[in-house]
Amino acid sequence: MPNIYLDNAATTRIDERALEAMLPFLRENFGNASAKYYEMGKIARRAVLKARQQVSALINAVKPEDEDRVNELVFTACATESNNWVIKTVPLIDPEKNHIITSSIEHHSVLETCEFMVKNHGAQLTVLYVDQYGQVSPDDLRDAMRPNTGLVSIMTANNEVGTIQPVKELARIAHDGGALFHTDAVQAAGKIKIDVQDWDVDFLSLSGHKFHAPKGVGALYIRKGTRLRPFMSGGGQEGGRRAGTLNVAGIVGMGEAAEIAVGKIEELDPRLRAMTEKLWKGISASVPKVHRNGHPDNRLPNILNVRFEGAEGEAILLRLDMFGIQVASGSACSTGDITPSHVLMAMGIPQEDVHGSIRFSLSRDTTDEDIEKTLEILPAQVQLIRDMSVTWNG
Ligand code: PLP
Repeated sequence: MPNIYLDNAATTRIDERALEAMLPFLRENFGNASAKYYEMGKIARRAVLKARQQVSALINAVKPEDEDRVNELVFTACATESNNWVIKTVPLIDPEKNHIITSSIEHHSVLETCEFMVKNHGAQLTVLYVDQYGQVSPDDLRDAMRPNTGLVSIMTANNEVGTIQPVKELARIAHDGGALFHTDAVQAAGKIKIDVQDWDVDFLSLSGHKFHAPKGVGALYIRKGTRLRPFMSGGGQEGGRRAGTLNVAGIVGMGEAAEIAVGKIEELDPRLRAMTEKLWKGISASVPKVHRNGHPDNRLPNILNVRFEGAEGEAILLRLDMFGIQVASGSACSTGDITPSHVLMAMGIPQEDVHGSIRFSLSRDTTDEDIEKTLEILPAQVQLIRDMSVTWNG
């Protein structure tokens, strides 16, 4: 049976080169990166500096030159932590600036954290609507800005439908209104060019395992000179910004994966775009009553989200799994959760169609054969599910 993995927005396979780079730090070079005065500590510190430079290059942050400086990039355990850090600390800096603006299609680690701040810290919250393609309107942000808006958090690209937001414009509007701007760039990293200097963002969240690094390592970009209270206390690591013994091997793997990703974006974009188009054209030619969710052009090259009228997404997912094809319905981060996707609902898709939506997410590991095999198997499986449905009358 083939193993066709089309759930790369949930997580990716670790790159062999990243794994190889990590192994010495799990075996012989297991030293603590905080130990400055002996060799194993020094080796770990040098490796962390190199990784910080590699990940900085992925987003065009200012590269650190010195092991004692984190500069603009702090390593975390995951993007969930990075998002929590910003949202749980920035609104507390100034009680007169406790209004947060976010969008209705953010990842749960942003949305639920904003709600936490409302419930527990009296923060005010505005959640912006999106259009039918999942895009935030800059005019809506401008209208929502208030004198007490302290933080705007809008993702770079959506994890379910791949729609890209006008981050540079949104950041400018936030700054014009006196607020800081954060973007969750987890899905964009390694897929589109990220430029924190050109976009002029204050904070940006990254997750290693979405671009072929291991799980358990993420990062937060903090623009030089921006105040941010530590979230984790109890140690002076990361320039006193994030306490906790560094995950040296994970950080090294993230650095290596970032360097590989930077070099591949231009070549990868047309290849992924061609494969998602081929998949969409093949599906729409062979399966009646299907629709594409998300922006047709302004999207990540690797995500295709399709709505199948009259077929349960969970049923499609299970049938495809029987043939070795792995996809997601709704958000993969909430697998097992059958509440309809908040992203698709926010885009105005009727609830029954939301349940019939499937996300195919590709990576550089995906081959043309994977797409062809999926197109061979999928139409008959959708038909079979529709034939069993009492409501399908297509
Ligand atoms: N933000 C987005 C857009 C995501 O897609 C995900 C995971 O799917 C996360 C944040 C959370 O990332 P992590 O697994 O590193 O906590």
